[in-house]
Amino acid sequence: MRSRFFRILLTFSNPIRPPILWATTPRLRNTTPLKSMTIPFFSALFGTSTPSSKNTMTSYPDQRTPEEWRAVLSPEQFRILREKGTERPSTGLYDKHAPSAGTYGCAGCGAALYEARHKFASGCGWPAYFDSVPGAVVRHEDRSLGMARTEIVCANCGGHLGHVFKGEGYDTPTDERHCVNSVSLTFREEGEGAAGAGDGKEAGAEGKGESKV
Ligand SMILES: [Zn+2]
Repeated sequence: MRSRFFRILLTFSNPIRPPILWATTPRLRNTTPLKSMTIPFFSALFGTSTPSSKNTMTSYPDQRTPEEWRAVLSPEQFRILREKGTERPSTGLYDKHAPSAGTYGCAGCGAALYEARHKFASGCGWPAYFDSVPGAVVRHEDRSLGMARTEIVCANCGGHLGHVFKGEGYDTPTDERHCVNSVSLTFREEGEGAAGAGDGKEAGAEGKGESKV
């Protein structure tokens, strides 16, 4: 049977008619050694898919389950970070926060997302940044609520941050506004691993502060 199959295969491996073999002898396909060689070949090609900004839910390095997130997040953090909620405007901890140095990290996984020098006073009611730490924020098209918006999420855990808007006329280097929920963020002063009580390090660094009205 098998040797006969090989003969058939050889016969039909001539480029003129191979589709006929596959189309008309479905049972033979299950015994062909070609198939078992093909699968590892393809999985080698596509199995380790490249984590690009186009990929969505499955490509984040931090793959915690919803249950695991619930265990470490407050209900409000879970609603916003993991269920794409939005905090009420002008209520967030960092809305009017204007430090001269430091880093805003993801409140879920701790990844650094924005630096203090990226923040500007947009007056929109949420913390606003004109840029992010390179590669830290991933964008997705969001067509919910009947609008076409660009959602931004943490590149490490996929946690929802907010949306980014462009071309609004703000006098910033990018004319982009990352509109971020305070709940999605946690602020760390310069050089700190975690948020600490204020033994203020007012490092002038490179940042301009960007505190305009
Ligand atoms: Zn994160």
